[in-house]
Amino acid sequence: MKTNDETTDLKSATLRTPAQLAAAGLIGADDIKKIADVASTFDIAISPHMQTLIDADDPADPIAAQFVPRDAELSCSPEELEDPIGDHAHTPTPGIVHRYPDRVLLKPVHACAVYCRFCFRREMLGSGAEALDEDSLERALDYIDSQAGIWEVILTGGDPLIMSPRRIVRIMRRLESIGHVGVVRFHTRVPVVAPDLIDDSLIGALRIKKATFGVLHTNHVHELSNDARQACAKLVDAGIPMLSQTVLLNGVNADAQSLQALFRALVEMRIKPYYLHHGDLARGTRHFRTSIAAGQELMRSLRGHVSGLCQPQYVLDIPGGHGKVPIGPQYLTELHDANYAVCDFRGNSHHYRDSI
Ligand code: SF4
Repeated sequence: MKTNDETTDLKSATLRTPAQLAAAGLIGADDIKKIADVASTFDIAISPHMQTLIDADDPADPIAAQFVPRDAELSCSPEELEDPIGDHAHTPTPGIVHRYPDRVLLKPVHACAVYCRFCFRREMLGSGAEALDEDSLERALDYIDSQAGIWEVILTGGDPLIMSPRRIVRIMRRLESIGHVGVVRFHTRVPVVAPDLIDDSLIGALRIKKATFGVLHTNHVHELSNDARQACAKLVDAGIPMLSQTVLLNGVNADAQSLQALFRALVEMRIKPYYLHHGDLARGTRHFRTSIAAGQELMRSLRGHVSGLCQPQYVLDIPGGHGKVPIGPQYLTELHDANYAVCDFRGNSHHYRDSI
């Protein structure tokens, strides 16, 4: 099983301390003290595979920007929150977030192979929050069983694919046995940050007699190494449709060229871009956020210029746990009595009369 030599290797070779970052040339020796202050609040983890993709000589490297901590994380704006999307307000039992009527999040693990510096759950993850204990997991599964309206279960965390195949099988089999659950979806960064973990035993654990979808979290085309592409291909070839989720991040992908390259590469990998998230109000992440107007302009720059297959929905998770809403640019303006002005992708306005 994989809890297992590969996972052990991943843990032992992962950079977790400021001193290790300095030894790897990712921060200067003079920065160790201030990065230690960051690490005392937000855990650090850069997996071996991600280390190989960082160009330490490029101060604007989009991989380093996502994983190497910076002292900007010590500045928290008043509007930033410990629980920016309001998970706690919708947690009926540990490990469950029940925000929408027909679906729940199931969070069996509170750790990841990497710790992204912009993560919206950064204060719920890492040391001291390793996993749901067995009793709590059982209660979470019982909750799903007891709620007939739950059609979809979304495994997230933390990253569910760092669990052992044995634990994944146990959860998937139980979900398979619940009649009203029609779909299981897992959200993961593992295929890009630790692609070796995607092996036959893990894929076997994910396959059940219910529709299973994977959502890959990825933010820049540089993450899509050959190993990552092969790992994703194994999942798709195993009959697991894949979607993707990207966070719009200053210093990583907040330009039309980066987004186009990422979304085209994903479609070529048979992964449909699903969501482009506006940055959440997580503490110490202000330097990553763009304005909504800038995000809308980027979405407008994609429309018509790249295939419709490459267009994710631009969304905002409303702080306080009120759910996700589309915030993309509008192309239709009502003039009067079913008469509209419609804007094409070149910015030209056309009159349209609704006739039914
Ligand atoms: S992998 Fe996901 S949950 Fe884990 S730190 Fe990154 S964004 Fe957060």
